[in-house]
Parts: sequence; structure tokens; C-alpha cells
Amino acid sequence: MNVESAASAASAIARTVLAPSAADGDKQGRFSTEAVEELGRAGLLGLMLPVDVGGSLLGPRAFAGVVAALAEVDASVAMVFLMHTLASVTIAAAPRTAALEEVLRAMAGGRHLSTLAFSETGSRSHFWAPISRAESLDGGGARLSARKSFVTSAGHAQSYVTSALSHTGSGLTDSTLYLVLAGSEGVTVAGAWDGLGLRANASSPMVLERCVVPADRRLTAEGGGFQTMLDVVLPLFNVGQAAVSLGLCRAAVAATIAHLKSARFEHLGSTSLGEALPTLRAQLATMQIETDGLLARLDDAIGHLEQPGELTMLRVLEVKAAAGETAIAVTSLAMRACGGAAFSRHTGIERFFRDAHAGAVMAPTNDVLREFIGRALLGLPLF
Ligand SMILES: Cc1cc2nc3c(=O)[nH]c(=O)nc-3n(C[C@H](O)[C@H](O)[C@H](O)COP(=O)(O)OP(=O)(O)OC[C@H]3O[C@@H](n4cnc5c(N)ncnc54)[C@H](O)[C@@H]3O)c2cc1C
Repeated sequence: MNVESAASAASAIARTVLAPSAADGDKQGRFSTEAVEELGRAGLLGLMLPVDVGGSLLGPRAFAGVVAALAEVDASVAMVFLMHTLASVTIAAAPRTAALEEVLRAMAGGRHLSTLAFSETGSRSHFWAPISRAESLDGGGARLSARKSFVTSAGHAQSYVTSALSHTGSGLTDSTLYLVLAGSEGVTVAGAWDGLGLRANASSPMVLERCVVPADRRLTAEGGGFQTMLDVVLPLFNVGQAAVSLGLCRAAVAATIAHLKSARFEHLGSTSLGEALPTLRAQLATMQIETDGLLARLDDAIGHLEQPGELTMLRVLEVKAAAGETAIAVTSLAMRACGGAAFSRHTGIERFFRDAHAGAVMAPTNDVLREFIGRALLGLPLF
């Protein structure tokens, strides 16, 4: 597999599996297990995993290409894939144990979906500061009790990459990461997911109640969770979220073009909306300009991850904040340009509009990113 073949496999899945079911999945809030199975069959659940466990060891460019292709048709599935891939690289970055190797091989074989369970009810979007504190067990294991506020793929994933404050630490960010297997005693999904957008990705709250995690499923050194969040998770999360935004912008542009070409004013000689109204052509042009600008920004951020330099962290922080605003702006313009037809859910555009709003509030939220960027520019510490 390479960057191009990964993206074309994702596009094929989007066309054949996601397109027929995305609108209904959104309406019913139904998680697509068929999509996950297809992603697994295509080898995409092991996209960034090492070759020795059966993965393709591709980088952020391939990851973003797959995410954007999925999001262009179904952003809920794109988020499921995004969270899985982040979980997979976090596990792959951990000191290898037989238990972790088994999970990595199952992922690469398409049999294991994972996700991140970082955000907690008590610290809300400040995922870097868990409230829960791990209890240490003899033999190096831990006992976890936590209220996780939103977990994408909750109840559908086979495992959860979970954070808790270290029993040895005293600071707000002295966390450790663990791999909790679904079905472990004390792991429950604590409510239904009925969001405004991304309705088909099962982002429910979860509770861990005295859940025992053996030492061979600890993913970081004691207190090393925060550094892994910063080094491994944050850059890919931001690039992945920007790719979701790009897919949504492309979907909104395509749906707007289709509507402006097909909807007609019969009393004006049956001209299409696009032929009749310069205002709509200008709105469409603005959408395209913004979408192409986002593509360039995403490409720049990926280039920074491929060849890190002094500005890499700044660009990584910027890309999600900018992309989220672009997706909201472009899908809002699409709603306006397609009028009552969009508002009354005849075009599919309102799904893109609703899905686009999730990016801004997913942590690090776009407000928090601005705070980080401002601090970085002023030479102030981020945390
Ligand atoms: C669809 C969806 C899926 C999700 N999936 C996952 C998942 O798989 N795993 C996971 O761990 N989490 C997940 N989350 C949680 C997400 O990452 C955030 O933690 C959550 O959306 C924060 O919501 P809140 O109400 O707690 O925000 P709050 O923290 O209450 O924030 C409220 C407002 O305050 C702003 N704000 C907060 N802090 C600051 C600050 N320091 N400076 C400036 N402004 C600030 C925020 O930007 C926001 O506008 C998901 C969320 C959604 C919506």
C-alpha cells in the first residue's frame, strides 16, 4: 500500500459502502459496523502500524488522504477511522509486550477497532488533565475508575486507549496511558449518543469502575502520558481533523454545484439557479477558494510533520483551528446558496453543516488552540 492506493481504497469504500447509508445512518444515529469491516478488509486499520505486525507503516499524508476521502461522504466514519488510527499509533509507540503485539496484529488484520478515551466529565475539554487517578496494583498493574465524557466508537471498539493521573505524580498533567479491552470488568457505556452532528459515530460517555489493567497493557512510563499526548497524538489529531474539514468542504462544494445546476426557475425560461443568479456563483466561488486554501494549509502542515522544523508545532496548532472555521464557513455558505432546499434537508448539505460544527469543539478546541498559539507567539508556557 502507498499514499495513492490508500486514498483510492478509501474512496472506493466511501462510494460503495458509505454513500448508500450515510444519510440514514445520520438520521438514525447508527454506527456503521459494515464500514469498519470494509476498512479492516482493505488493510486501512493498520495504515500507520509497523510492518512487523502486518501494518503498512504509512505516514500523515496517507492518513490525511484516507480521512478526507471518507469525510467527503460520511464524516462520522472518518472520525471513527481517525480515532482508531490515533489509538493504533499510541499503542505502537509503547514498549512492546506480547499483549500489545497481539492487539496490533489484530488491528493490522482488520479485526480490532480502537479509540481514544481521554476527555473526562470533570476536566471537560482539558483532556490533558484527567481527574481520575490510577491505583497501583502489585505486579505493576493498575485499577482505574473514571468518567469519560465522550468516547467515539463507544461500545463498538474492541479497546480504549485511556488516560488517568499517575499514582506517583502530583501535577495536573502527570498522567499515564493504558489500553483497556472492551468487555473487561467495570467497563460500561454510560448513555446514548444523540449529537447535533457526527451522529453516526457513537460518541457516548463511558464509565470505568475499578477496572483492572495488567502491567503489560500500560502504554507509557508512569507519568509519561502527557508527553505521548503531545508528541504522538496531538499532531496527527490536528492534521486528521483538518482532513475531516477538507472532506466536508469538498462535499459542500459538490452538493452546491449539483443543486445550482439542477434547480430551476420555470417562470424565467427554466434557467438553473446557477445560470440565473450571480450572487450564488460568487458564493460558490468563495467556497471553492476557501476549500483550496484549506488544502494548501493541510499540505503545508503535513510537510511540517514529514520534515519537522522550528515552526512545526505552530503550524500543527494552526491547522485544526483554521480548518474548523473554514468548514463552518463553507458549509454555512452552502446552506445559504442552496436556500430552503438545503434547510429542509433535500440536498444533504445540512448534514455537512452540522458535522462541520463538531471540529471546533473537539479538544483541543479551536478556542484553546488560539490560546496556545497566542502563548507560543508571546513566548509564554502553554501549560
Ligand atoms: C462528536 C464528538 C466526539 C468526541 N470524541 C471523543 C473521543 O473519542 N475521545 C475523547 O477523549 N474525547 C472526545 N470528544 C470530547 C472532545 O474532545 C471535548 O472534550 C468536548 O467536546 C468538550 O466539550 P465540553 O462541553 O466539555 O467543553 P468545555 O470544556 O466545557 O468548553 C466550553 C467552551 O469553553 C472553551 N474553552 C475551554 N477551555 C478554554 C481555554 N482554556 N481557553 C479558551 N476557551 C476555552 C471551549 O472552546 C468551548 O467553547 C468528542 C466530542 C465530540 C463533540
